[in-house]
Amino acid sequence: MHAASMLDQALIRLDEAARHLDLDPDVLEKLKYPRETTKVRLMIRLDDGSRKSFMAWRCRYDDTRGPTKGGIRFHPDSTIEEVETLAFWMTFKCAVMNLPYGGGKGAVQVDPHTLSKAELERLSRAYVQAFSKIIGPDRDIPAPDVYTNSMVMGWMADEYASIVGEATPAVITGKPIALGGSLGRDDATARGGYYLVRRLARQLGLEPGARVAVQGFGNAGQHIARLLAADGYRIVAVSDSKGAIHCTSGLDVGKLLAAKGQGSLTSLAGSDGISTLPADDLVAVDCELLVPAALEDMIHEDNAASVKARVVLELANGPVTPEADEILAKKNVLVLPDILANAGGVTVSYFEWVQNRQGYYWPIEEVHERLRTMMEREGDAIWALAQDKGITLRSAAYVHALSRLASAIEAHGTQQFFTS
Ligand code: NAD
Repeated sequence: MHAASMLDQALIRLDEAARHLDLDPDVLEKLKYPRETTKVRLMIRLDDGSRKSFMAWRCRYDDTRGPTKGGIRFHPDSTIEEVETLAFWMTFKCAVMNLPYGGGKGAVQVDPHTLSKAELERLSRAYVQAFSKIIGPDRDIPAPDVYTNSMVMGWMADEYASIVGEATPAVITGKPIALGGSLGRDDATARGGYYLVRRLARQLGLEPGARVAVQGFGNAGQHIARLLAADGYRIVAVSDSKGAIHCTSGLDVGKLLAAKGQGSLTSLAGSDGISTLPADDLVAVDCELLVPAALEDMIHEDNAASVKARVVLELANGPVTPEADEILAKKNVLVLPDILANAGGVTVSYFEWVQNRQGYYWPIEEVHERLRTMMEREGDAIWALAQDKGITLRSAAYVHALSRLASAIEAHGTQQFFTS
């Protein structure tokens, strides 16, 4: 959640990927700038009767492949650059998974923990009032992101329905099940990463029994620990913002969930061979698989050399800086990149949108099966591309996405088409 150069850094990935494809110049001209970013100052009345305003944005980065899709973040450090960068990543993530979407993102610059529940509802509704002409089921479809949840999505869908005068559940995904949400959305991000690990287990040298360290124990971190442990992987360390715990013989995920529910992972330390670590030391834990599932830039040039894992599964968005990426590549650490590894979330959001439009809801088994098929298909393609071109999995994921984006952009005609 930092500033100006964030989008420039992200665009380096675009340039790198372009070198592996024979692209019409139109493609880069189209993808190197966000298509539109709308900025609004939201004004709400607080419980004490006073008025307060908050900066808010919605970016539709590119819509060549379909309506834009991306979450809304409520965070005090959000900036326009962050929103545009996240929207750029969403453009590539949706193309990686072959979803019929472009990329978008939104944010409100607010610490939601300082608001009462009623103020949070007013702010959520104010966002939709301000951006009602931007969003829409065939235009731009928001979802939850950091510090927004299914209840916020429910308020937003309700506000949109009252503005357009009809129920329109497909305008937003990540809604409560009772309001048209999809079964399986809650653990979709972790489950997508889990299916990927299982599919590539042999190539990655990550069969069950392998040791796993998980950084961040929120939605993504808790579910990946649960899914991998159930398959016989050994969760040897987990962390949250308050600290980390470690146990070489493996942690009991049920006890971790109970301790987190009561507020503190570190309360488990001192028994069953469990010790504490500073949260920052988690990346250096001896293990085969490291799962960053917290925030951006957690593996950086000062700690990347200490990573002992053979494989990094990026469930967080942007957890490895470009400098750290180079260090990890030199150490032959394989990074399963965010735009593939955490794409299970947007994929099940897509399923929610499809179900809302069909008015027909799928059983959980169908959601899991469709997600598994898609993760395996795109994971296999990216693995093969990386082998074939001798490039990292991250570069391969960008090349894979860019070739789909390029086909769509070039289908409108290229310079060569119009001048020949
Ligand atoms: P969350 O808020 O539920 O959990 C975040 C966790 O990170 C919390 O446990 C927090 O304590 C921990 N954390 C914060 N700072 C930390 C630090 N310095 N060291 C260790 N842990 C720290 O969020 P989430 O939904 O699980 O999202 C986590 C990441 O995954 C984000 O980057 C998000 O963008 C990404 N992601 C989430 C989804 C989804 O569907 N939830 C989808 C795609 C990507």
